Amino acid sequence: MIDSLSKTKLKVATIWLDGCSGCHMSFLDMDERIIELARYIDIVYSPYVDTKEIPQNIDLFIVEGAISTDHDLKIIKEIRKNSKKILALGDCAITGNISSLKNLAGTQAVLEKGYFDLADLNKGQYPDKIVPKLLDKVIPLNEAVDIDYFVPGCPTPADAIFEVIKGLIEGIKVDVSKYTRFGL
Ligand code: SF4
Repeated sequence: MIDSLSKTKLKVATIWLDGCSGCHMSFLDMDERIIELARYIDIVYSPYVDTKEIPQNIDLFIVEGAISTDHDLKIIKEIRKNSKKILALGDCAITGNISSLKNLAGTQAVLEKGYFDLADLNKGQYPDKIVPKLLDKVIPLNEAVDIDYFVPGCPTPADAIFEVIKGLIEGIKVDVSKYTRFGL
């Protein structure tokens, strides 16, 4: 299907920030098409592989999830610096979606619910070590850095992920509305 393409493999990375991993599960739902793509891309950093550090010079970084913590913010800026293109995968990355429901109550109210009202142990002790600090507001990726591609869905369907990656490999613009929409 994509035989006539460039012989140079694209360096692709994926990550989930404040997401449920559902969009990454959809990536795996491409099934045997992943093998087809693997002829043209190398996954150099991802929850699917065991790389610890974000490499430099990534051709395409696929990011699931919104930005909720100071750590998310640091990571997305690092990703922007090291990537030619960033693809926001799924509604959380694009709009905040479910991840941003916390904004309705506010960070303090959420912390009090979790660590006061519902806590069985260590009531009233907010985690302030190791656990990243929550931002005052959950934001979509494009409020922190420039984003090149947006592929919606909750989760983004495997067909949409495949067609978009294939289009990027081939250098063909893909109409994502044929394969997905917000809130799918
Ligand atoms: S868009 Fe939906 S499936 Fe994807 S990370 Fe967010 S909640 Fe999960």
